[in-house]
Amino acid sequence: MDVRIVVEVDGKKVSEIIESVETLDAMALELRVEELKKRAGRAVLDSGFTQLGESLVRPHCCGRPMRNRGRRVRTVMSHSGEVTYERTRYRCRECQCWQTPADAVVCCGSHRMTRLLGRNASQLASIEPFAQLEQLMADQHGVYLGHDTLWHLALDVGGALEKLRLAEVELRQLHPWTAENAPRPPVSPQRIYISCDGILYGTNETESNAQQPGVNQQKWRQMRPPQAVCGCARLRRAPRQRCETTRSRAAPWWHKQMTWGQEDDDLSFGMSLYALACRCGFHQAQEKIFLSDGADWCWSIQQEHFCEASGVLDWYHASQHVWECAKALFGSDSTAAQDWAQRLVRCRRQRSAATVGATSNQP
Ligand SMILES: [Zn+2]
Repeated sequence: MDVRIVVEVDGKKVSEIIESVETLDAMALELRVEELKKRAGRAVLDSGFTQLGESLVRPHCCGRPMRNRGRRVRTVMSHSGEVTYERTRYRCRECQCWQTPADAVVCCGSHRMTRLLGRNASQLASIEPFAQLEQLMADQHGVYLGHDTLWHLALDVGGALEKLRLAEVELRQLHPWTAENAPRPPVSPQRIYISCDGILYGTNETESNAQQPGVNQQKWRQMRPPQAVCGCARLRRAPRQRCETTRSRAAPWWHKQMTWGQEDDDLSFGMSLYALACRCGFHQAQEKIFLSDGADWCWSIQQEHFCEASGVLDWYHASQHVWECAKALFGSDSTAAQDWAQRLVRCRRQRSAATVGATSNQP
């Protein structure tokens, strides 16, 4: 099949793609189409970023307009591949510093990638083990970014977010939120859960593998106090729209938000958690539940910020304690330990299900 794509910008042809595309294999055909989309996208972005740069005003520095030092091209990575745009560079007459306003709006910070690409790579970095990130970006987005590029981006974006979090903590210390002055969420939740737990995250470091001497493996660390939280809200009514897949009434609406904290800094973590809970409607919620993994620091945070919420030990950790207890009582590999723990966990689950069922049936 012959394909022709003409890309025109403001009536002027900037690219013409003529390709013969094989249609024998659906997967290969779709991959080819993705490639064509990228080529067309590059042509539009080249012109678009250059136009965007031209629309920006001359910057000022040291109280004066900066001197125009001419135009230069710059190549950055985007979701469509490498794009090149032309932009003006400026230099201060006094302090001699440089500015390129177009880079500030096109690029993700000082990185040679677009903001959209930087955002998506950072999002993936926050949920996937770092060692797999390079491959995941290539597989899912068709974009090849080196390990070091991704590593510097993650450090930079993570550092900037942490600064913002600490700035908010400082602000809330000066102007604390209470039931009276906390912001009101767009929709007040019927029930809010605040959950406090640590997480394991894959680092960029490696360590020797105890099972396979001489083989290194990725090192995992625990964020403690972990990361965190937060609030899910269950609304009084299910949203009006119906679920398109099942055609059933939509399930209760969940709104999940998270924040994080640094090791040995329960103070700022607790405040970040409280601020997040306020934004999610903590003070408006009719029912408030604080879920903890059972560690002392979690209960301290509850005492300090969430004493009106009911404290609940989460199911995962409660079962973990039951299993530890069974092993201590009957020996770690014994059948008696298994029977005892399974019976107790099943019994607890049935009772919890009955309680949850009763709660859900309340008007
Ligand atoms: Zn200056």
